[in-house]
Amino acid sequence: MTEVELWSRETRAQRACAALIKNGFDAVYVNTAQEATELVMQFIKPGMKLGFGGSMTIKTLGIQDKASQVGAQVLDHNKPGLGADEKLDILRAQLTCDVFICSANAVTMKGEMLNIDGNGNRVAALTFGPKKNVVVAGTNKIVADVGAAWERMEAYASPMNNKRLAKNNPCVKAGHCMDCQNPTRICRVYQILKRKPSLSDYTVILVGEDLGY
Ligand code: SF4
Repeated sequence: MTEVELWSRETRAQRACAALIKNGFDAVYVNTAQEATELVMQFIKPGMKLGFGGSMTIKTLGIQDKASQVGAQVLDHNKPGLGADEKLDILRAQLTCDVFICSANAVTMKGEMLNIDGNGNRVAALTFGPKKNVVVAGTNKIVADVGAAWERMEAYASPMNNKRLAKNNPCVKAGHCMDCQNPTRICRVYQILKRKPSLSDYTVILVGEDLGY
């Protein structure tokens, strides 16, 4: 990335951070994924229970492995070999964990965060329950406003997630959301965080790189 490109990303992200702070979130900008990882790890202590929302961004940062290495308890609902009931128990336990870590589908320049969820576990945790929420988002997810955020999710993020998960939904062929009626539809809960939920403790980390979808 050139110096000018990085400047542009930082300027835009700093404005989004200022708007997030105005809306009650703690928010900070860092240039690199490495810096974001170090910042997230500052919130993780041995013995803490951690929840993770499905996120390519967090996977890219390798937070889950690093957290295990420092002695945190990762509540991993994707652990191989889990039965359906065990998986549900872990998803429920994530709602009262010490730190819940995930990304957002879009962050607006007005300091809002938007997400689309299938099970609803991620948006539930982002609303109430965990003692702390940490959201990491690349500058590729910053958009002007709520309208642009829906457009981003329908035209890009949701079809990409369908493709990644090998879902047989019409967006995978069309490359755009078709508002399907399929039983395999993964877009079921639509969330806008316009202000920090009253009883939550949030840190949002915006990163000057493209991360996730
Ligand atoms: S609503 Fe259906 S078509 Fe639209 S992105 Fe979600 S799964 Fe794909």
